[in-house]
Amino acid sequence: MYSYEQLEKWRSLCSSSFYVLDTEKLSDNYRRFQRAFTRRYEHVVVAYSYKTNYLPFLCQKLHQLGAHAEVVSRLEYELARKLGVDPASIIFNGPLKTEDDIHFALEQGSLINLDSFSEIPWVVAYAMQYPEQTFRIGLRINVDLARGGVSPLQNGYEVSRFGFCVENGNLEKALSQLAVAPNVHVVGLHGHFSTNRSVGVYRQITRHLCRLGKQHLGERLAFIDIGGGFFGELPTSFGMTAAPTFEEYAEAITSVVKEELAELDHAPLLILEPGISLVADAVDFVCRVIDVKENKGERFVLVDGSIHNVKPTMHSHLLPARLVCNRKPVPEATYHVVGYTCMEKDYLLQGYTGPLPDIGDYFVFGHVGAYTLVFNPPFIRERPPVLAIDGNEAFIVRGKETLQQFIPESVYRFHVDKQEVVN
Ligand SMILES: *Cc1c(COP(=O)(O)O)cnc(C)c1O
Repeated sequence: MYSYEQLEKWRSLCSSSFYVLDTEKLSDNYRRFQRAFTRRYEHVVVAYSYKTNYLPFLCQKLHQLGAHAEVVSRLEYELARKLGVDPASIIFNGPLKTEDDIHFALEQGSLINLDSFSEIPWVVAYAMQYPEQTFRIGLRINVDLARGGVSPLQNGYEVSRFGFCVENGNLEKALSQLAVAPNVHVVGLHGHFSTNRSVGVYRQITRHLCRLGKQHLGERLAFIDIGGGFFGELPTSFGMTAAPTFEEYAEAITSVVKEELAELDHAPLLILEPGISLVADAVDFVCRVIDVKENKGERFVLVDGSIHNVKPTMHSHLLPARLVCNRKPVPEATYHVVGYTCMEKDYLLQGYTGPLPDIGDYFVFGHVGAYTLVFNPPFIRERPPVLAIDGNEAFIVRGKETLQQFIPESVYRFHVDKQEVVN
């Protein structure tokens, strides 16, 4: 872990709170994930889920290791292109794609997984314009995963909002609507679900994808895409019993694929779209203790960070937190760690018992690489910079924004006089 001197030095580079990206941890996560699957099945594509953390440097590092890109908006698509990703290595998912997005991605030769009926006419119309070409696309399926009446979906949802429902015949309806254009070939099925992340659920999803693929696409089945949602390594502070390992996920998924699809002439591609499992534990957040005070017997430790920096999704897990200081010995106490945002509810830690902080000490929050720094608008203050470490080297991969970059005149109007009417 980081020394006090180390943190002092990095803070002076960043001038306030900052994130630290451990590039070795990131690379190790990717390699372990990728190897777990490729060891067991020959045709594997790992497409990194951009939305989880599209810090350009981080994406580039993963692409360097061989990751494809999984994007859910045109903005993410353009970022992948800007990073030099081959369009053929971009998977375009998500519920909201425009007609232009779809035409663009088809023209570029990216794989699109359709999510709803509104997208179908756009694909058909485009394909009709180019009858000499073939367009290979995928469909996201929606299948009931409940067992014994218990849904494995996160947040207590019984039904997922995504994809084409298998049970009510929508999948078949989508296939027949697409069949209007003979040069549109549905060649794969996509099944990303936000579930309890158990191995059993992945086995179930994989089996559904394989069976539906065989049934509806037959020898045309070129891929099944399991999506993401895997656990990475979890901190002990989460208080959860051992999460499945990459090896266990890979064993479950690939054995179902081999068993179900052995009869096909061509072994389909197995696509995985990990996000959280690759990046969550590769990023820490470092903030400094600015003040310690008591209000009516409660002790409040103010830091130059916010709950928005470490937990914008407001999940319920206790993040691993560590106090780094240059004093000894440090007595234990119970206190709250609160943020700068002027919101009463801005608690980074509540009723926490640990070494009693003093002004100038640092708090390091671990496991904050997923759905944090991209899910974190500059609220009241600038977004914290990101420092990457690679061996003994540290360098800034996202700098501190100035007012000019945060609220640029080229985007915002600053004056109220001289109306420029838009019509
Ligand atoms: C969010 C998402 C992922 C990644 O999910 P994680 O839980 O971060 O692994 C993969 N595929 C799709 C379609 C997604 O929406």
